[in-house]
Amino acid sequence: MKTVAFFGLGNMGRGMVLNLLNSGYNVHVYDPIDENMQEAGARGATIFDKPEAAVLEADFVVSMLPSGTHVYSLLLGADNSEAIVDCASKETIFIDCSTIESETARAIGSELDSLGFAFCDAPVSGGVAGAAAGTLTFIVGGTEENVRTISPLLSAMGNNIFHAGSVGTGQIAKICNNLLLSILMAGTSEALQLAIDNGLDPTVVSNIMSKSSGNNWTLSHYNPCPGVMPNVPSSHNYEGGFMVNLMNKDLNLAMQTAELTCSQTPMGKLAQSLYKEHQQEGNGERDFSSIFEMYSNNTRP
Ligand code: NAD
Repeated sequence: MKTVAFFGLGNMGRGMVLNLLNSGYNVHVYDPIDENMQEAGARGATIFDKPEAAVLEADFVVSMLPSGTHVYSLLLGADNSEAIVDCASKETIFIDCSTIESETARAIGSELDSLGFAFCDAPVSGGVAGAAAGTLTFIVGGTEENVRTISPLLSAMGNNIFHAGSVGTGQIAKICNNLLLSILMAGTSEALQLAIDNGLDPTVVSNIMSKSSGNNWTLSHYNPCPGVMPNVPSSHNYEGGFMVNLMNKDLNLAMQTAELTCSQTPMGKLAQSLYKEHQQEGNGERDFSSIFEMYSNNTRP
């Protein structure tokens, strides 16, 4: 039985751990929040109060953390914190599933490589629901051999595994996707509200556009207008789903990446300013489709 040391039992990590356990992996967990550890422990994971101890017999180390700084300091140490890499065996493969800067992923990959360890960045798409259901999409950066080796493990947590290229490219593909998603959600909201302002029923116009050239995932699977679809956040006061705070985090990463390559992102900059304003208005913890309210609440009588 393979052993996975899993770090970060938050909204995403808790579902991923459960799916690893259900697939027969022996799972070691660590999270500074004791309640999160106890929950994983009750489901069959082995809990550790020190991160170094969790990696001692691990075949794989998986991290699912808030930011690149968290990932770097956990794996390689910083500010006098211990590095878990010092306790890992040379066969251990490190996989970071967090969404972080691609430069940080590359820096981690190259430091681990110089110490003789394999590393892949494997950010995910599919959200909290996908993590719980084991249907995540993994977008992986790493060598072909390493991606092949980790694929059975990722399959326990997801449906789709894509190899984007070398270490760091998983992060680039992931933020390109979310850049496009933010623009599509804002554009879909804009078009729907224009239709409503002109007396059209949003369900009727959504049906029309979903069979026309304006069709896109936000319109046909995640409609931002309340009442058009029953099982999406817009019909539940924008609760659950993918938080505006996280979309802003990803848009910041996208804009930083674009700056490094001098890429033109006028639509991305506009989307970023919209989501930032929306966040500042107190919507950070609501689903990102609540951007629709920036249009619907501003309609003049
Ligand atoms: P979260 O804040 O719910 O969970 C993060 C967890 O990491 C927390 O439990 C925290 O205590 C723990 N943690 C912090 N430092 C740690 C350390 N040194 N060792 C072990 N655990 C530590 O965040 P989340 O929503 O689960 O997201 C995790 C990552 O996944 C982020 O990078 C996010 O951008 C990405 N992501 C999230 C979603 C989503 O819908 N929530 C979707 C795709 C990708």
